[in-house]
This record gives sequence, structure tokens and C-alpha cells, in this order.
Amino acid sequence: MLLITCPVTRTDELVADRRIRSIANHPTHLALRVDCPACGGVHVYRTGRRWEAARTRTAARAAAQASADAAAARAARVAVPA
Ligand SMILES: [Zn+2]
Repeated sequence: MLLITCPVTRTDELVADRRIRSIANHPTHLALRVDCPACGGVHVYRTGRRWEAARTRTAARAAAQASADAAAARAARVAVPA
């Protein structure tokens, strides 16, 4: 059994193993293609420590960039004479 959250309906669904369509082994994670009982679609779920670490790094980089952009925008506003 597998507990998934459907990205369409946002509901948690308990899914039987037979609904797993495929499992792909990647260097950073496993990707499971799952038939969703909530919406009838197929969703991909990825699991793995390295995948999570990569996502965390990407999110941290995006946050740092957004912070730098905001600081640059504030500096640009200050530089313009009123
Ligand atoms: Zn779904």
C-alpha cells in the first residue's frame, strides 16, 4: 500500500500496489508512476534522500535569489530622486 496526495483533488489516497504502473530507478531517486483512484490520472512520485537534498538546494538558491532581487529593487527605488 502507498499513501499519495493527488495533485488534482488535493486528497490523500491509500493506493494498492497493483496501481503502481512502473518504477524507474534514477541516480538520485526512484520514480513511481501510480494510477490515481481519486482523479483517474497517472501521477509520478519521486522518493529518495538525494532527490530531497537536490530539491532543498534548489529551493534555498531560489530563496536567496529572490532576496537578492528584492534588495536590488529596493536599492534601485532609493537611487531614483523623488
Ligand atoms: Zn489524482
